[in-house]
Amino acid sequence: MKSVIKSSLPFFLFVLSCTVWAGIFFILPYFLDNPSKGWEGRFITFFHWGLECFATFLLIYALAVNKFVFAVFFPLFSLLGSILSFYRYAFKAVLTPMLIDASLHNDLRTTLDVVSIPLVIFVIISVSISILAVVYRFKKIKVTKPLIHFAVSVLLLCILLTANGRVTNSLMQRFPFNVYYNFSEYKKLRQTLVAERIDPDPALKATCSDSMKVVIVIGEALRADHLSLNGYHRLTNPRLSKRENIFSFSNIYSEFTNTNMSLPQILTRADSIYPERAFQEKSFISLFKKCGYYTSWISNQDPAETYVSFINECDTVLYGHPEKSVYNYNEWLDEDLFPLVKEIKKKDFPCNLFVLHTIGSHWYYNNHFSSSFKVFTPVTSSRILSQCSSEELINSYDNTVVYTDFFLDSLISIFENENAVVIYLSDHGESLGENGTWLHAGDSEPSHRPACIVWCSEKFEKKYPDKVEALRRNKNKYYRSNFVFHSALDAANIQSKVMDKKLSIFNLPAQ
Ligand SMILES: [Zn+2]
Repeated sequence: MKSVIKSSLPFFLFVLSCTVWAGIFFILPYFLDNPSKGWEGRFITFFHWGLECFATFLLIYALAVNKFVFAVFFPLFSLLGSILSFYRYAFKAVLTPMLIDASLHNDLRTTLDVVSIPLVIFVIISVSISILAVVYRFKKIKVTKPLIHFAVSVLLLCILLTANGRVTNSLMQRFPFNVYYNFSEYKKLRQTLVAERIDPDPALKATCSDSMKVVIVIGEALRADHLSLNGYHRLTNPRLSKRENIFSFSNIYSEFTNTNMSLPQILTRADSIYPERAFQEKSFISLFKKCGYYTSWISNQDPAETYVSFINECDTVLYGHPEKSVYNYNEWLDEDLFPLVKEIKKKDFPCNLFVLHTIGSHWYYNNHFSSSFKVFTPVTSSRILSQCSSEELINSYDNTVVYTDFFLDSLISIFENENAVVIYLSDHGESLGENGTWLHAGDSEPSHRPACIVWCSEKFEKKYPDKVEALRRNKNKYYRSNFVFHSALDAANIQSKVMDKKLSIFNLPAQ
């Protein structure tokens, strides 16, 4: 046994050196800008980096057992590692399924635009070092009992990658495992086709007779009771509260408290009696399209398997930040969607449906408002929840609310002179310490209570005074989040037999 360990030592040290090099140059850039506080924060970040390095060590170990496999693997590993870490460090960009899609479908020129001299130098140095490592592996390293080495390292790697969901998620978001993860996500998303869903109203044949802009904004983690429009003690809606025709619907219920599950509820006519419609039917987007609307999905979040088919129903899909994932800890703002909205609006289609999917109040809160919106202080300075005080967390969260107020106000100003309606609904609420819980996806009451704000233009009000009166009277009524399906169709006067007037906020209740 002793002799096996002794003879394996050079191989072990060789893999360790390769890992240290990859850990510093290819993995560390994913952790450098993670906000953390004091020694404890630094230690936790270091621990996460170490875990990613340990998994990488096992991967290199398994693939270095055979020198020919290593000769193919390691230069390729270094090529990808150097490119991805360069973009992560220099542009704060990570690999995502949207980015893979964009780079596979863009023309070569756009791809070449992002290639710079420092990148080329870094890649050449990295690949050269990897070739030296391959030569060293051929000349100096002998592995006795290779099958045992291979089996043990693969077994340990499999245990590490699958034992705990949170650890798996964390490992899959950084190099080298993010390459596998994002390509498999990309493949899954491509396979989810629109054709698999049923048209809820095949007989619908209306046409768009009038110029009309319907804007649906799906917000993120904004709870209703943190709007000053709903009586919150802090002024979180300084801009919207000064506007005409703003209606805050304070009594909306979202059954689900996470993005992936709640989006199908908002976009389809699924309800508590027919929940399967969320997975079987197309959304209102298809019905708008049949009525002559030009439909666009403009997003500041990544697509997920549960709602990518709705995105594919649209004529155009645009991403504000295809290079971001929730493991990025740097500025990621919703105002970056405005140029995309304006680009579509400029095309001058008489009837437009815009679906905007915002990053809103997603954790890490400080990333989602710019410095001029740091109204409430002190804010958090660590991404590790246990290092933040309740006061800091709520301040940071409320700053995202003020930012969303600015975002919606600016969005409205783009459509002010049109016959237009904006319906904003957050996908769910957020827990801010209730029963000791934070963030969302749990079951606290506030995470079931999303904010909802509706605005209509003067032109819309002149044409449809009854609909605006309905908003005024309905705003305190209880609705489930599927009201959006029926209300969007009603706002646009689309006479579909599947539109339930009772579930529309534009339906004037009987006196
Ligand atoms: Zn969400």
